[in-house]
Amino acid sequence: SLAGKTAIVTGSNSGIGLGIAREMARAGADVVLNSFTDNAEDHGLASGIAEEFGVTARYIKADMSKGEECRALIERAGACDILINNAGIQHVAPVDEFPTEKWDAIIAINLSSAFHTSAAALPMMRKAGWGRIVNIASAHGLTASPYKSAYIAAKHGVVGLSKTVALETAEEAITCNAICPGYVLTPLVEAQIPDQMKAHGMERDQVVRDVMLARQPSKDFATVEQLGGTAVFLCSDAAAQITGTSISVDGGWTAL
Ligand code: NAD
Repeated sequence: SLAGKTAIVTGSNSGIGLGIAREMARAGADVVLNSFTDNAEDHGLASGIAEEFGVTARYIKADMSKGEECRALIERAGACDILINNAGIQHVAPVDEFPTEKWDAIIAINLSSAFHTSAAALPMMRKAGWGRIVNIASAHGLTASPYKSAYIAAKHGVVGLSKTVALETAEEAITCNAICPGYVLTPLVEAQIPDQMKAHGMERDQVVRDVMLARQPSKDFATVEQLGGTAVFLCSDAAAQITGTSISVDGGWTAL
């Protein structure tokens, strides 16, 4: 059980982050939800989790594109036993047409935020004598596809950052790993479908089967509950010697 542990999940008012936060709470952890908005619905998600799982749940607004806000999120939470770096965005365009502001935002949110939150969380984990960092990378942290240069560069960076943090904490009761999902049906993926339809000149069904799931041999999307379960496993005692690696949840994508 993760009772008594505080889990901070960045980018967790939807999709995989929310799924992971829910599985953390189901395992008994107190959770901190986050995104860059500050709506009643955001806080409602936290109170819903608190009620459903009988844990403490809070929502803290912080923009993961800004280093100081990443660090402030950890400070404001006041405790961080488990850090899940999940916030992420996508943009699809050829390299020579890729908007610079999109490149900068993707590198900031998908990669640099994990540096800032980890830097702020590690002293707290050391003080507590225990810690888990789980970075949500991607199958695109291990392989590439056209038109996703910034995302793929950021996710490869996340895998590399995870290894480095693992080595710096290797002799402590702290682990750092990456989870590399294949396609999970979330709003982020949903939003890619029109772009991919345009880029490939295909209808929706064809782009889902032949482009998005082309490299996912299971021909099935992973679920946010499965991602949450993998994250909970990495926080368990069974995973205490798993550090500096990545776990693929990709229906066989990286076996191809
Ligand atoms: P999503 O769009 O549903 O969720 C992204 C989350 O990040 C949202 O909660 C959003 O509010 C938050 N976010 C975006 N910009 C932010 C910012 N500046 N500050 C704080 N929060 C911000 O997408 P998702 O599919 O759940 O993606 C979650 C993570 O999983 C991302 O890192 C993504 O790259 C990764 N991933 C997703 C898939 C997939 O198939 N869905 C596959 C591999 C990896």
